[in-house]
Amino acid sequence: MFENEKKSVLDAALEIKRNHLVALCGGNVSLRLPDGSVLVTPSGMMYEEMVPDDIVRVGPGGEILEGTRRPSSDTPALLYIFKNMPWVGAVIHTHQPWATAAGLVTDVLPACLVTQIDANRDDVHVAPFTPSGERQMGVLTVEYAFNAWAVILRHHGVMAYGPTLKDALFSAVYLEEAAQTYMIARAVGEIPALDPALVRAEADSWNHYGQQK
Ligand SMILES: [Zn+2]
Repeated sequence: MFENEKKSVLDAALEIKRNHLVALCGGNVSLRLPDGSVLVTPSGMMYEEMVPDDIVRVGPGGEILEGTRRPSSDTPALLYIFKNMPWVGAVIHTHQPWATAAGLVTDVLPACLVTQIDANRDDVHVAPFTPSGERQMGVLTVEYAFNAWAVILRHHGVMAYGPTLKDALFSAVYLEEAAQTYMIARAVGEIPALDPALVRAEADSWNHYGQQK
């Protein structure tokens, strides 16, 4: 069941690898299905070696509904996010170096670049550290989300999410691009703040970006 959806999860996982947001088998990709169950990448497998049937389908309580692999060790955190952010359809967890580096030296990555505003929607906040694999990672993501489509997990990585898998992917990739630019600029000078009204205007313009659906 859900062959197309499993393939889209695997494609997104390969895309975060191609964009250097994870190394080896780090991170994970998850997608909420219409019946409320969730597809999640398996634990500790190289993305390049996965086939769609390696993607695991779990119920809201974490029970395995489909698949022979063990789901990502972060599944309890992912399920907490899906439960408590009903508008979220997909979550991508990465260890992307630039955004993670920013999270070591700042409490918030301010909305200061167009692609970041478009894809992350607002300032991206930094959540305090919690050991990986614990449900608390999901609790902190929900707590530090505010209006953004991503949260930086201090000493760890990023949770990027959105209504669709593509939204979550754009959020993760553009956050990394923005974090790199931000860190380079911050190393040599002050970063001017953008007027919040202009941030909103830019975020709204994204709603008209791309091909008509
Ligand atoms: Zn992680």
